[in-house]
Amino acid sequence: MRKGCVYLVGAGPGDPELLAVKAARLIQEAETVVFDRLVGSAIQELIPPAATRIFVGKEPGCHPLRQEEINDLLIKLANSGQRVVRLKGGDPFIFGRGGEEAECLARHGVAFEVVPGITAASGCSAYAGIPLTHREMAKTIRFITGHGKENGELDYDWKELVAADCTLVVYMGLGAIERIVASLIAAGMPADTPAAAIENGATPAQRREIASVADLPQRVRARNFVPPTLFVIGKVASLADMLNWFKPAAEDASASTCVAA
Ligand code: SAH
Repeated sequence: MRKGCVYLVGAGPGDPELLAVKAARLIQEAETVVFDRLVGSAIQELIPPAATRIFVGKEPGCHPLRQEEINDLLIKLANSGQRVVRLKGGDPFIFGRGGEEAECLARHGVAFEVVPGITAASGCSAYAGIPLTHREMAKTIRFITGHGKENGELDYDWKELVAADCTLVVYMGLGAIERIVASLIAAGMPADTPAAAIENGATPAQRREIASVADLPQRVRARNFVPPTLFVIGKVASLADMLNWFKPAAEDASASTCVAA
């Protein structure tokens, strides 16, 4: 590991065993680790006690440190000769602003490396029993964000997102899922298209809801899903019950609550 270098490291969806070997090594060797809210506690525990931990918690609508402040912090740490790991949930280059941070480092002549992580789409869908592609069901995949502009507007060409052989994966969509589903159905998506919501995917706290796309918003509200939640919409979600291999404790708890209610 180099001094004065920033390593933009993907932490994956939460299970430390899903970290890349390189990511685990860099965390061990780091002098300073800068991380945000999506990096789960099990991964935070891998940070050596001697390392400085800097939490820059980020979630929609709540930014303890603004992005520019995070960029400045990374530059300052690297310029002071630190071995810096910038740890991000999932993959740093997928809806993680890793691109913006790398651009900033490049512009300021700071050395950096990028270590990819398992992004929520692949981690959550694998642990929810949903193959993202399938010869008979999905030939393409789209990753979209449900977190719109400042005014909340989602300016997609919805017709373009509705394709029978495409799996649509929605990141940061919980706040806007009603609007997203209404827009997809208005653009021609059949209301009975299979869909899934996965909360805290690939962790012991994982919960899944499998429903038609039309019913999904109401189902996730009824079960009080919270972020991080990922949506997978498309025929492949119909396999979720057959391929349901992962049995997290949280799913048992919520299943028995349903029975009791
Ligand atoms: N860089 C991250 C994504 C950051 S955007 C990645 O590659 O995964 C944050 C969104 O990712 C959340 O709102 C949620 O939609 C999704 N997400 C990340 N981790 C998740 C998890 N463990 N379970 C469910 N959704 C997750």
